[in-house]
Amino acid sequence: MTEVKTKVREVKLFIDGEYVCSSENSLFEVKNPATQEVIAKVHEASREDVDRACLAARRAFEQGPWRTMTVQERSNKIRRMAEIIIERKEELASLEALDVGKPYPVALGFEIPRSAHNLKFFADFMEQQGGEVYPMGEDFLNYTRYEPVGVAALITPWNLPFMLTTWKLGPCLATGNTAVIKPAEATPLTVSLLGEIAKEAGIPDGVINVIHGYGGNSAGEFMTAHSEVDMISFTGETSTGKAIMKTGADTLKKVSFELGGKAANIIFEDANLDKAIPESIRAAFMNSGQVCLAGSRILVQRRIFNEFIERFKKAAEELVVGDPQDALTNMGPLVSEEHYQKVTSYFEIAKLENSTLITGGKRPNLPEYLKDGYYLEPTVYVQEDPKARICQEEIFGPVVTIIPFDTEDEALQIANSTDYGLNAVIWTDNLQRAHRVSHSVRAGTIWVNCWFVRDLRAPFGGYKKSGVGREGGHHSLEFFTEAKNICIAL
Ligand code: NAD
Repeated sequence: MTEVKTKVREVKLFIDGEYVCSSENSLFEVKNPATQEVIAKVHEASREDVDRACLAARRAFEQGPWRTMTVQERSNKIRRMAEIIIERKEELASLEALDVGKPYPVALGFEIPRSAHNLKFFADFMEQQGGEVYPMGEDFLNYTRYEPVGVAALITPWNLPFMLTTWKLGPCLATGNTAVIKPAEATPLTVSLLGEIAKEAGIPDGVINVIHGYGGNSAGEFMTAHSEVDMISFTGETSTGKAIMKTGADTLKKVSFELGGKAANIIFEDANLDKAIPESIRAAFMNSGQVCLAGSRILVQRRIFNEFIERFKKAAEELVVGDPQDALTNMGPLVSEEHYQKVTSYFEIAKLENSTLITGGKRPNLPEYLKDGYYLEPTVYVQEDPKARICQEEIFGPVVTIIPFDTEDEALQIANSTDYGLNAVIWTDNLQRAHRVSHSVRAGTIWVNCWFVRDLRAPFGGYKKSGVGREGGHHSLEFFTEAKNICIAL
């Protein structure tokens, strides 16, 4: 294994078709989570920079030609962005792996291709859309158009930076809106390249702007309060969603929120454990558990409880934790020291709550050059009380809790006993039970005998405190458009 070589990049703001410096010459550092070396100095957008970006987006929206060109012309340019992403996939994947600390093969094989697909999917999907005509006899023509809303603030988290940004940018652009994007402060590298990718694809200046900075009392809040921003599409923590909703309320912005999760992964006694165990391991530890859809509450029916624990423990211990740039690594570090402190604080809470530690709960032994990274072993607890904090709160790290249950009703009751409702996973060979339980779990996505299988046409979003609205297919298009009805006397 060779030491990761890093250079310090300068990351600028992208406003009105140009990379520019922070007007206050304020820069912040970004570190490689694997080693804690500084990998970038990032220009922080001041209030004035945010204002310039929002005004550029407004001008590009009002003056066209983005909003007024044909759907096909727009879609062609968005598809060109997707092609450029694929042409540059190795570079983008290595930057994503460097910035987030995720295994390079995952970024290369899954996240970057999916990011390109997000753009291409919405470009193609938009070309299939029509309006509506309501026949009213011979005297009137009554029809509906779907028009772009205006300027969108797209705010994304650090766990899947490029994939989640393109997931919002695709429908935003395809419907003719303009965007001001703010990636998370910890992981700005790939998203900052969207500026040059858009330019090369022929997207007009001002249509895409990328600013950098923090949330409250910084670039994020300046954007969400800005009078030229018409709508906010946000993915991140539930508490941030609440803050953004308050800030956006004064100017009545439309909002679409994808927030936190604490998915129940329910293993019934008739489940095929040969499939359920490897998928539950993936659901628990992919991206070091830093996934909103993580199956972090594993509910196991008592008759198979011991067998499940034994096999799950063995599989968790086989995961390779280490350098994200190494092809053999399954799990890299946590994204930052701050996040590591949050995740490990649950070890103390777990102890106080009398949880039983099955495996993990500490830093693994790693080579000297990784000594500063915030690595954790895959960590598994058993907890009988589903109301314990480790069963209720989103830990967002490689930490899962296994909870026993006896009956289907009890499983349902536990599954529904959190404030979150993003997704759930059900393992059973009983078809009736699969449907019955799917209908009763209060969550936006239910996976039966699988996890993280996505069709981009399907609605994606959360019940309860896991979100507001839905993304995906026509749900995204509805958010990014205003329906206008026109009635003409003939
Ligand atoms: P976060 O809420 O801390 O930050 C997300 C983004 O919001 C960042 O760009 C941040 O700078 C910005 N922000 C923070 N405060 C803000 C404010 N007051 N005004 C405007 N912007 C502000 O989230 P995170 O820690 O980056 O990401 C982890 C969270 O994201 C987890 O809760 C996870 O479940 C959630 N998530 C949800 C989904 C989903 O699809 N539901 C997907 C991925 C992650």
